[in-house]
Amino acid sequence: MILYDSADINELMHAAMLRRRSQVPGNEVTYLVDRNVNYTNVCTINCQFCSFYRPPGHPETYTQSTDEISDRLSELEDIGGSRVLMQGGVHPELPLEWYTELIREMSLRHPSIALDCFSPIEIEGISEVCGIPTKQVLMLLKEAGMHGLPGGGAEMLVDDIRLDISPKKGSADNWLRVMHEAQELGLTTSATNVFGFGESNFHRVLHMDRVRSMQDDAVSTGRTGFTSFVSWPVMLENNSLGSKNRGHNRIVLGAGPTEYLRHVAVSRLFFDNIEHIQASWPTMGLDVAQMALLAGADDAGSTMMEENVVSASGTTKTEASERELQRIILRAGFRPRKRDSDYVLLETESIREDLASPVPIQPDSLG
Ligand code: SF4
Repeated sequence: MILYDSADINELMHAAMLRRRSQVPGNEVTYLVDRNVNYTNVCTINCQFCSFYRPPGHPETYTQSTDEISDRLSELEDIGGSRVLMQGGVHPELPLEWYTELIREMSLRHPSIALDCFSPIEIEGISEVCGIPTKQVLMLLKEAGMHGLPGGGAEMLVDDIRLDISPKKGSADNWLRVMHEAQELGLTTSATNVFGFGESNFHRVLHMDRVRSMQDDAVSTGRTGFTSFVSWPVMLENNSLGSKNRGHNRIVLGAGPTEYLRHVAVSRLFFDNIEHIQASWPTMGLDVAQMALLAGADDAGSTMMEENVVSASGTTKTEASERELQRIILRAGFRPRKRDSDYVLLETESIREDLASPVPIQPDSLG
């Protein structure tokens, strides 16, 4: 809290870089070539900050077919991608078999692509529709070929804030419970954090504390736990939360670049038990994401071909090429390294050396 409230930003970023060097030695920054598939925009949860969903019966609703989704995965294979992030709304009617058949079919047609699908709230939705516990839903999805459960929907794991912005999304405990179940089943998981809902710095640290405590528990019982932590400020352009942020009664929501970099640096220092901290370019832009690499982040995120959820709330950039990610990494003084969903390093074809920063950052210069 003291660091968050009052540390000098330069010193904070420097300290975070030192910690990054000890947790993730070497001069490489990783990235993932992946794509998003938003299989349906039908959702009953009505989060105030979401511009992506449409309620059941709305004329703009869609649900993609197996072949449409498969075509998207073929496009990903064509660019050497290794992971799909498949997420949608909480659909009130799709039965469990729709999901298990989809996963089974995708793993048969696209065996080289890791299927990181859904989020805790979608798993809860499926559980409600089919009347079986969330852990069993996860087990059946894993049997069908699902590789991981991404950490979407964590937002703030503090009920005072959470229940205000997404009353139907349920408590922080629910998110943590479903994630715990996924980790027990050996699914790959990550932790996310959306901030800027008008919460205090104390709430932000509380969110990190809940994630860190769960990670302590995972590590102490020999599980991998969360592979990474990624945070970003809420987007406010096209949603009901954003409308509260305009006009005479304006309350200060969202966060600018300095506040974002402070958040990244604090998260690197706070998470002694999560190895990878990701920079977020979809919300902050590539330039600020590049700065996050100097604030303790060791991963530039992923290419995210066809991102629809965050972009619906006002970001202008919806995908980055592998080349763009490599360029921001090189120009920040690091070596780009492609990885897979589990942070296993992959062979990387690098762009031209002359695009590298003229002053590469050496570990010794930070000592
Ligand atoms: S954020 Fe997810 S759960 Fe919330 S309304 Fe949008 S699609 Fe539904």
